Formats: sequence, C-alpha cells, structure tokens
Amino acid sequence: MKVIKEISAMQEISEFYRKTGKKIGFVPTMGFLHEGHCALMLKARDESDIVVTSIFVNPTQFAPGEDFNDYPRDFTRDYHICKSCGVDYIFYPNAKNVYPNNYYTYVNVNNMTETLEGKYRPEHFKGVTTVVLKLFNITKPHLAYFGQKDAQQVAVIRKMINDLNLNVKLRVCETVREENGLAKSSRNTYLTKEQKKEAAVLNKALNEAKRLILEGNTGNAKDLKKEIKKYIETNSPNSSLQYIAVTDNINLEKISHLKDYKGDILISLAAYYGKTRLIDNILFEK
Ligand code: AMP
Repeated sequence: MKVIKEISAMQEISEFYRKTGKKIGFVPTMGFLHEGHCALMLKARDESDIVVTSIFVNPTQFAPGEDFNDYPRDFTRDYHICKSCGVDYIFYPNAKNVYPNNYYTYVNVNNMTETLEGKYRPEHFKGVTTVVLKLFNITKPHLAYFGQKDAQQVAVIRKMINDLNLNVKLRVCETVREENGLAKSSRNTYLTKEQKKEAAVLNKALNEAKRLILEGNTGNAKDLKKEIKKYIETNSPNSSLQYIAVTDNINLEKISHLKDYKGDILISLAAYYGKTRLIDNILFEK
C-alpha cells in the first residue's frame, strides 16, 4: 500500500491503471476510520482491481463554528486500517494543494441541498460536491463507494453524477452500526459512555417510525414526526432533536400523505447530544 500526497502523482497512477484496463474503486473519507469505512473499502476490494481511499478533512464542507479544527485525526491508525482492508493507495493531500490561493470554482446541486441537512448546514453540500468532483478528477475511479449513513449526501452525489454525466458508478453501502443500533461515526468519539448508550434511541425511533408506517398506523407525516419526537424525548431525555424529515430517496421531496404513498421512503433525522450532532436515517419500501 502506498501513500500519495501529490495530486499530479495520483492522477498519473490512476491514468496508468485506466490505460492498462484495471478497474479503480474509490472510497472518499475524512479519516478516523471505523467499521463503516471498512465496509466501503472491503466492497471496493471485492469489486475493483485497484482500491484508492482518500483521507481528507475537507475544510469547505464545514461552516465557521463547526468542528473542522476538532475533527478527530489519526493518520497512523488510519494507515493500518486501510492496509487491513486491502487498500492499494491512500490519497492524503494537503488542503493547500486542494484549495490553493485564488481558488474560485465550486459545484452546487440546487434544490435538494437546501432541505434536511442543508437547512442547518447551508454551505455543507457545496463543499461536499466540490471536493468529490475534484477527487473523482484526481483518482479517476470507475466505481465510487458511499455510505447510506449519509443519505442526503448519497442522493446529492447521485444527482451530480447524473446531471454532469460523470463516468463513475455509484455504489452505496448499508449503515454499519454498534451493537445497540447507534450508527458508527467518527464523531461518536466525542460522546461519553452514557451518551453512546442513550443515542441508540435514534435508530430505535427510526425503526418505530417504519413500523408505524408499514402497519398503516399513521396517515400523515406531521403526526408521525410528532410521535417520533415524543418517543425520542421520552427515551432519551438528554437528546435535543433538530429535525425529522420524511422524503423520497431520489429528489428528497417531502412526503406528507403516507397512507396512499407507494415507493421508497427515507426518514432522516439529526439530534444533538451535548455539543455532538448525530445524524441517522432509515430507508424502506412501502
Ligand atoms: P466520512 O469520513 O464521515 O466523510 O465518511 C466517509 C464515507 O463513509 C461516507 O460515504 C460515509 O457515508 C461512509 N460512512 C460513514 N459512517 C458510516 C457507517 N456507519 N456505515 C456505512 N458507511 C459509513
């Protein structure tokens, strides 16, 4: 396994593999890797000839006051995890090279980045799509792996790939969870033991919402959201729910009337435990 820091070197390596007919699988991450990231890397290993993982805490997707400076970083630990997952190349660039002085170009997917996460993190997805497109241009993947844990991110990237006719196939991996159901996240490291225990309620609440919808016990999203909010507040008094949203999974449009709805339903939420903001979601077919 090799660590590549220079953009031009990574491009040359990827170009070489493309020319020799090898399939490149790419897993973009911000590091501080856990089993969720490993699932993506192992799937990439399974489906590609060459696996490239990037480790880059992307400054443009953090707003001032968010946790960019505090975001956990441990390259040595990540290096060993990548190695154990069969990664061939870690792309580990410097922010100054990714965004040099006089950097002016951004990619934005309109509409679907203004709701859900985008409502509370208005510039976030512009940073995500910009860096992902740059990383695609640098690592030149045939396949790119993303986690369903970040459901809106998946939908936005899917839209960008389709709208801009990018020659990359999107692969989505299921959310990997702790035994108690809490979605694995690099940010879980901010949580106390007690908070980790309590935060398991988020996944339980999402499953409860799914049950209520599938059993036909809830006719509209407004009542459902009220019920789920109550469920979370009762079972996790130290949480502070920021939003719950019921949408489709492609354009992330609100679903208000659940009774007659047919198709995929995505329920997403964000909640604070102290200063730590957690997100989770559930996707199912009705
Ligand atoms: P991050 O390092 O948080 O930017 O995540 C990098 C990739 O790993 C993204 O595609 C995430 O959706 C994915 N990911 C993060 N946590 C999980 C998880 N618990 N299960 C599956 N994928 C995940």
